Amino acid sequence: MNYQRIIEDLYRTILREPDTGSVAAYIPELSAVDPDKFGIYLTTVENENFGTGDCHELFSIQSIAKVLSLSLAYNMLGGELWKRVGVEPSGSAFNSLVQLEYDAGIPRNPFINAGAIVICDILQSLLQDPKNDLLQFIREVSGLPGLDYSPEIAASERSQGYRNMALIHFIKSFGNIQNDIEPVIDLYFHLCSIRMSCAQLTRTFLFLANNGRDTRTGQAILNMSQTKRINAIMQTCGFYDEAGEFAYTVGLPGKSGVGGGIVAVHPNKYCIAVWSPRLNRKGNSQRGMWFLEQFTTETQLSIF
Ligand code: GLU
Repeated sequence: MNYQRIIEDLYRTILREPDTGSVAAYIPELSAVDPDKFGIYLTTVENENFGTGDCHELFSIQSIAKVLSLSLAYNMLGGELWKRVGVEPSGSAFNSLVQLEYDAGIPRNPFINAGAIVICDILQSLLQDPKNDLLQFIREVSGLPGLDYSPEIAASERSQGYRNMALIHFIKSFGNIQNDIEPVIDLYFHLCSIRMSCAQLTRTFLFLANNGRDTRTGQAILNMSQTKRINAIMQTCGFYDEAGEFAYTVGLPGKSGVGGGIVAVHPNKYCIAVWSPRLNRKGNSQRGMWFLEQFTTETQLSIF
């Protein structure tokens, strides 16, 4: 499979089409990003690399980081985790409050904001020094010892974080936030502030294509069953209320972020990351969705 040629051909084709999305404006730091950035990178489980465009430029990975906080919490707590958060697609917006009332404060899944905030509460209880320990875990998985939170993005998000504040207060009223609100929401804003490039993302998430093991060191980050389950949740819940569309058009487990990044995994084959900041109406990268749809069509490789 000539991944490099396919990636470059599709990149050029998509660049010729008008990008109809718009950059996330509700986080001031994100609205300042050049909307025309476009990068793609693919790493195989044999550690071969292919990429084009702005694939080495850092950007705010936002909700993509929620896969990592979930991995750490799942690894530490095991199946107990699912008493606090569900595994069902929400079918509603990533920052929605409505279902929580019906579901008595148990978020539908760990990737909507409500669910990721509960995962942060779980980590706040489990870790000695939550912010540092979570960062250390992400540094180890990514192989990036210098990786850090972005205080500017975290502060920017906090300055407009009314919905997330509403979510955490609402969930706490049902008893599903066990710590004080402030450190938990601070952990959440910092988790969302991490910046990586497409090339760093594929390296970081490759373990999900490799039965939970780091392809370079052989070290297990998750066991096989946990890896299968995280991939399943990415497949069904990784794109908010567009998860069905992504499964239908792309056919890979993946996770998006409002910074315009998407990571997708082909188990036993590769991890691919795309970045293009303009989002469609559901909050997913417009060009990223187009690219991945055409990529799995062209390569005739999907999990289905
Ligand atoms: N930090 C963003 C928020 O809480 C994450 C949203 C996303 O990337 O989907 O709204």
